Amino acid sequence: MALQLYNTMSSRVEEFHPLNDSEVRMYACGPTVYDYGHIGNFRTFIAVDLLRRFLRQSGYQVRHVMNITDVDDKIIRNAARDGVSVQQYTAKYEKAFLEDAAMIGIEQPTLVRATEHIPEMAEFVTKLVERDLAYRTEDGSYYFCIAKFPRYGKLSKKDFSGMVDGARVDVDEYEKDSARDFALWKAPKPGEASWDSSIGPGRPGWHLECSVMSMGELGDSFDLHAGGEDLIFPHHENEIAQSESLTGKPFAHFWFHARFLLVEGEKMSKSLGNFFTLRDLVLKGHKPSSIRYLLTSVPYRNQLNFTLDGLKQAAVSVERLRNFRLRLTSGNFPAGSSDEMQSLARETVDRMRAALEDDLNTAQAQAAIFEMVRRANAAFDSGTVKKDDVAPLLAALGKFDEIFAVLNDDDIPKMKQVVDWAKTEDRDRDITNELREAVQSGQLSDADIEKKIAEMEGARRSRNFNVSDALRAELTTAGIVIENTKDGVRWRRK
Ligand code: AMP
Ligand code: ZN
Repeated sequence: MALQLYNTMSSRVEEFHPLNDSEVRMYACGPTVYDYGHIGNFRTFIAVDLLRRFLRQSGYQVRHVMNITDVDDKIIRNAARDGVSVQQYTAKYEKAFLEDAAMIGIEQPTLVRATEHIPEMAEFVTKLVERDLAYRTEDGSYYFCIAKFPRYGKLSKKDFSGMVDGARVDVDEYEKDSARDFALWKAPKPGEASWDSSIGPGRPGWHLECSVMSMGELGDSFDLHAGGEDLIFPHHENEIAQSESLTGKPFAHFWFHARFLLVEGEKMSKSLGNFFTLRDLVLKGHKPSSIRYLLTSVPYRNQLNFTLDGLKQAAVSVERLRNFRLRLTSGNFPAGSSDEMQSLARETVDRMRAALEDDLNTAQAQAAIFEMVRRANAAFDSGTVKKDDVAPLLAALGKFDEIFAVLNDDDIPKMKQVVDWAKTEDRDRDITNELREAVQSGQLSDADIEKKIAEMEGARRSRNFNVSDALRAELTTAGIVIENTKDGVRWRRK
């Protein structure tokens, strides 16, 4: 089997194969760095990260490029409002975005910044004008003429046959049913930032940025282009129009769009009070691994309802997996192997792969690993797990975590970073007691604790009680509660 992936262009699930044998070239629209990233943004970025990780696990090399939109209408407006340069304004949010992405386990793609590719953008516009696909207006702006691209609307499946010839729009984002010639390049307005270029002073439109940078990095035709569902129209439609009318070749072969999430059952919005940046949630004491787990718990094309209750559940799920791993690494098992555990591990790996090949069905993959945990825990209790079963069970857990990336994360140091950030931003009062406690009890990371518990159990088994008692005392002093249950040692932070 190969990966079956939904393609917005064909509106069907199709088998995914890259254009070049073993290498996948993909481009994801990145953040517009005018504010801190919210969990909706991160749902989309994590969906792309998961795709990237799964493609790699499937044996492909992945060239993953993401842009940083560091010039657009909102940025220009906000920078002017704050009386700072565009660069000063965006540098802060770009840094925050990269920290957040790392915090939530996103592997960093190759980054391209719009403001570093202005000459190529001007050149692209020149070529469009030479082919009569774009035109200049009196003020020195340039527009793409959508009448020159008869298949305009093919991605969003919109019928623009009744469109008004020559009507123009010069904002980056606009209404869903408006078919207008869109701005490629905007002439400078008084008080606004602008760049000099071979087509005159001004700034690029958002759509042009992504066409130029994706083709510059990945070629005229590449495998996959990704973003949230709001980008289908006008952004991606416009990218296709510019790129394909110029090259005459298909632009991206697969179009991958993640569905918008709901928060507490409603569309996320600042006025409803259900708008969360990643940092807002960490300030409330939630772990980055819980947030990542929750954001991957519903397949990317389904509606995900993000709730604070769900986040607590996600924390329990992650803890359950970590405790299961601890049980495997610290347990004492009789020699030999059991057919049941060997086939359980094998079947789990197969089930996870089959689930992810089915248009990245993350919910099924998570269900498969929990089924393994449930059955293996029952086998621990009845004494049927043998020494040689440990490695395959751990390997299945490892395969899971290559994709989901929630087990090895050092949550506490990351949460500490957010505390430090809040202090420098004068947001001390936003640091909740939950976060303070988590950080305090977390002088030891999860990994440190698990290592010490494994040492403690090892010492106890070899009847080295001085050592095991000392380790237990050390953990207790650090605020770690250790419980000996019939399932083995469990721990939690006080
Ligand atoms: P922006 O920074 O607004 O350009 O958005 C960055 C990425 O996040 C884009 O791919 C958007 O489509 C995506 N996005 C924005 N809001 C949401 C949301 N509520 N749910 C899922 N994805 C979103
Ligand atoms: Zn884009």
